[in-house]
Amino acid sequence: MFKRFKTKQINLGGVLIGGDAPISVQSMTFARTRDAKSTLEQIKRLYFAGCDIVRVAVPDYEDARALEEIKKDSPLPIVADIHFNYRLALIAAQVVDGIRINPGNIGAKSRVKEVVKACQERNLPIRIGVNSGSLEKEFDQRYGPTAKGMVESALYNIKFLEDLGFTDIKVSLKASDVPRTVEAYRMLRPLVPYPFHLGVTEAGTQFHSTIKSSIALGALLLDGIGDTLRVSMTGELEEEVRVGKAILKDSGLVKSGVNIISCPTCGRLEANLVKAVEEVEERTKHIKVPLDISVMGCVVNAIGEAKHADVAIAFGKGQGLVMRKGEVVAKLKEEDLVERFLAEVEKAAKEMKN
Ligand code: SF4
Repeated sequence: MFKRFKTKQINLGGVLIGGDAPISVQSMTFARTRDAKSTLEQIKRLYFAGCDIVRVAVPDYEDARALEEIKKDSPLPIVADIHFNYRLALIAAQVVDGIRINPGNIGAKSRVKEVVKACQERNLPIRIGVNSGSLEKEFDQRYGPTAKGMVESALYNIKFLEDLGFTDIKVSLKASDVPRTVEAYRMLRPLVPYPFHLGVTEAGTQFHSTIKSSIALGALLLDGIGDTLRVSMTGELEEEVRVGKAILKDSGLVKSGVNIISCPTCGRLEANLVKAVEEVEERTKHIKVPLDISVMGCVVNAIGEAKHADVAIAFGKGQGLVMRKGEVVAKLKEEDLVERFLAEVEKAAKEMKN
């Protein structure tokens, strides 16, 4: 098993990031932040989906002024995302739990200094959010939008904050493609002690984002890199969180909920396996304890999988088997299999809790 890179721990509104803290999942609202009611509704949706931290965009004064009302009722710590206007960061820093800036586009050093001072006063962490599409001119001219350019930009901005005595930093190095993203994070990792926020930026639709994020974040997590993450998606809020949590689970970093093993089906199949797996997935969503359950189309591989699964089902022609730890507990008609299987899953989950 890989070893997680030991990073400095920071505290973002009660959620610890880095060190040995669990890897957190973040997302971002898309309502205009000035519309506090809609923003809060989205924050609550994210909270119920299992999100740990939410980021809100603050492009204008009206948005900055709405932060107080949002913060009052938010069940999640809030990060204010600021570009260009340091005064907005100064307003946000009085209210929120963390600030994301790209110091390169905040302007004069004296302005960044003021933002740092405001964060220091309230112990707020700052995310240095390097984006391949908006590198400072000097790095862009010298390296172009490459991994090296992103790393140099991050080092420059980190040093800038360090020179001001500020070290409650997390860093992201996002590009819109997988190779540059992975290369940049890998390049920077041995050079600084700060926690990393992982993500592929502008990753696209649900389908493409899921693939890009799984490859990039999966590769990095298996390298032991990453302390918090976001799956950026042109899609539903809940889906970002669901994919983020699934990446953590399938990378072996989080042990909770059911792990469904199901076969891809083939010409030996004589049952409606797709429908059965969908029903199983839907009806086991609420289970929090870690359980391996297997739903297989025939006995060819079902018996082998069943030996490693807590509960298993093997379909056959018009009938099938339900198994616990490889032992057959019921032989039933096809239409009764899923119900009995789910009852065994609930039983196994209950036993595990006790
Ligand atoms: S378990 Fe059976 S039905 Fe499913 S893919 Fe394997 S051989 Fe085909």
